[in-house]
Amino acid sequence: MRIHPLIFLAAMAVLPARAESLPDLGDVSQATLSPAQERAVGYNIMRQIRQSSSYLDDPEVATYLNQIGFRLVAVSPEARQDFLFFAMQDTSVNAFALPGGYVGVHSGLLLTAQSESELAAVLAHEVSHVTQKHIARMIAAQQRQGMASLAAIALAILAARSNPQAAAGAIMAAQAQAMSSALAFSRDNERDADRVGVQILQKSGFDAHAMPVFLERLQRSTRSIETGAPSYLRTHPVTYERIADVQNRTYDLPYKQVPDSLDFHLVRAKLRALQKDPRDAIAYFDDLIAERKFSNETAARYGLVASLLRAKNTDRALREMKVLLPQAGTQPMIASLNGRLLWAAGKRPEALDWYAHASKLFPTQRALAYEYAAALIDARRADESKLLTDHWLQKDPDDGKLYELQARAFAQLGQPMMEHRSLAEAYVSIGNFPLAMEQLQLALRSSNGDFYEVSGIEARLRELRGLTAKQQ
Ligand SMILES: [Zn+2]
Repeated sequence: MRIHPLIFLAAMAVLPARAESLPDLGDVSQATLSPAQERAVGYNIMRQIRQSSSYLDDPEVATYLNQIGFRLVAVSPEARQDFLFFAMQDTSVNAFALPGGYVGVHSGLLLTAQSESELAAVLAHEVSHVTQKHIARMIAAQQRQGMASLAAIALAILAARSNPQAAAGAIMAAQAQAMSSALAFSRDNERDADRVGVQILQKSGFDAHAMPVFLERLQRSTRSIETGAPSYLRTHPVTYERIADVQNRTYDLPYKQVPDSLDFHLVRAKLRALQKDPRDAIAYFDDLIAERKFSNETAARYGLVASLLRAKNTDRALREMKVLLPQAGTQPMIASLNGRLLWAAGKRPEALDWYAHASKLFPTQRALAYEYAAALIDARRADESKLLTDHWLQKDPDDGKLYELQARAFAQLGQPMMEHRSLAEAYVSIGNFPLAMEQLQLALRSSNGDFYEVSGIEARLRELRGLTAKQQ
């Protein structure tokens, strides 16, 4: 998702990634942070999350979450706020909002939700924590009390929101421990996020009754699981009072039959295929199909092919794919799976033809563009790959993956200066300015560029140096 340019500048102002380099909050009597300050803190936390092994770097899952998320944001009372939804590969049931509108969802929660409306209910609650400024006010309050630096607060938020157990090691200081609980949402915050959450859930066309249903399911699972409460319950405490309150809010609302989208089922099948050992995943989907226990047959078959592909059993995957192919023209995730399968099966010309066809059918599908551009490079067709990434970069100049692909194309075309220039932008996109500047210097040392290209690189280098120096 594109980061707003102003926000991006604000975020860059906190770089490089050093604790001391976070912005000064200035007037600490303020009750809340400015949107730019909030976004800067969130951006800093996000950079750490992106580097963690549990960050799920999957454009299809991300596209889906953002589709649902923005449907809710569009009807929320504070729709001007920036948002970015992302997934974590983590079996625990949790979701969390960071300052600045970054909302994370664990794969465990995606698999536990029994309907798309239940997933939307959780997202609506998280979106409301952001739009109601709960997090921004908490940070401002900590600052006012002189509790800790903004960097320490950012770390504590990261710990409390994402994975409290794993983060315990990261936060050694007793002060940080105390702060972590001080940063937990209050009962009033929870009630407020539920109230606004129900409103936007209702307005966006999902079934608002899914919210109390999901909370009850979580609470029941707490009683049956000895290992402790799902982490969602620790960060957003669910009490009988809270459930009763949400039930009251939804009581008079008419029941709606909201059918789940095929994307919802496909994303869950993909996560399941990823989560299990490939052989277990094949057995799981085989059983689902044989016993007809699936809630959606297409998704079960998609999961089977994805699992077979992971197990490198391309012969059987190609056979099973035939059943899905009639839907590949209307469902980009199936189209993409077919492309990956043809490629893995060594049918490269067919795969390239397929990608060319599929990118015309789904011109806005990011995952397809990444796969097609990479396949073109592997097929020694770097010039075509570059045309594709150039086209996408015009729409989204902050997409680091596109710059990486563009760099590979330049390498193949024998243009080392532009290769380093693209790599520099890939580093900028993840906020790593020192490595970006190193790449720009390498670019200047490879002397095959024309005057305009060289001055462009020099200007960019000065710009990054200026931004970094401001923080020293
Ligand atoms: Zn909450």
